[in-house]
Amino acid sequence: MTETACRAAFAHEPQAQRGRQRLLARLEASGISNQQVLEVVAEIPRHWFIDEALGTRAYEDSALPIGHGQTISQPYIVARMTELLLESGPCSTVLEIGTGSGFQAAVLAMLVRRVYTIERLAALWGLAEPRLRALKLRNVRYRHGDGRLGWPEMAPFDGIIMTAASEGIPRGLAEQLTLGGCMVLPLVVGAGQRLVRLTRTRSGFRHEDLEPAMFVPLLGGLG
Ligand code: SAH
Repeated sequence: MTETACRAAFAHEPQAQRGRQRLLARLEASGISNQQVLEVVAEIPRHWFIDEALGTRAYEDSALPIGHGQTISQPYIVARMTELLLESGPCSTVLEIGTGSGFQAAVLAMLVRRVYTIERLAALWGLAEPRLRALKLRNVRYRHGDGRLGWPEMAPFDGIIMTAASEGIPRGLAEQLTLGGCMVLPLVVGAGQRLVRLTRTRSGFRHEDLEPAMFVPLLGGLG
C-alpha cells in the first residue's frame, strides 16, 4: 500500500527516475545487500525532503544541508543503518532520534510496522510530518523533544536508530530496547566517529564497532 503510494509519486518524474537508478547501482556497489532496503531508499523521492535549490543533487550519494545547521543523511548511511537494524531479527517498532528532514523515517515507515521519531528543533519537526503524509506514510508518530530520553510511554522498541553523533550511549535509551532488540548509532570516538550496533541480550548489551561515520552532533535541550 505504502509502496504503491511512493511509486505513484514518481510516475511523472523521469529525471528523478534516472537519478534513482544511478543511486541504486551506487548503493549496491558500496556493499548494501538487503534488496528491500535498496529498493526503498532509491524509491522515496529524496528531492521532496530538501530545498528546491538543491534538487539536482537529490540523488547524489551525499549528505545535504536542510537548514538550521543540520543535514539530510547520505543515502549510503541511511541504507546501511537500516540494513543493520533489520538483520538482527524481527523488527516491528523502531524509534528514531533526530527526525531532521524525515527521509530516514520514511525509509523505516516502508519497512516496519510502526515508527516513532523525535526531533529537538521545532522548525524541522514541523516539516517532516506533511512530507510523509504526502507519501501516504501514516504509521509514523512524531515528537518534539530531547531524543536522549527516548519515548518511555511507547517503549520497548525492537530497534532504535540515532541519526546524530553521541558522546556516549544514553543509558536510559538503551533500556528502552526489547530483549534481542538493537540500537544503531554513531559514537564520538577521539576526533572521529564510529558506527556502532548495540544489541540487548539476557546478560546486558553486545557492542559491535562497525565502520567510520560522520554525523552532526546529538545536542541537549530544545530549539
Ligand atoms: N534522520 C535525519 C538526519 C537529520 S540530522 C534525516 O533523514 O534527514 C540529525 C538530526 O538530529 C537534526 O535534525 C538534529 O536537530 C537532531 N538532533 C540532535 N540532537 C537531538 C536530540 N537530543 N534529540 C532529538 N533530535 C536531535
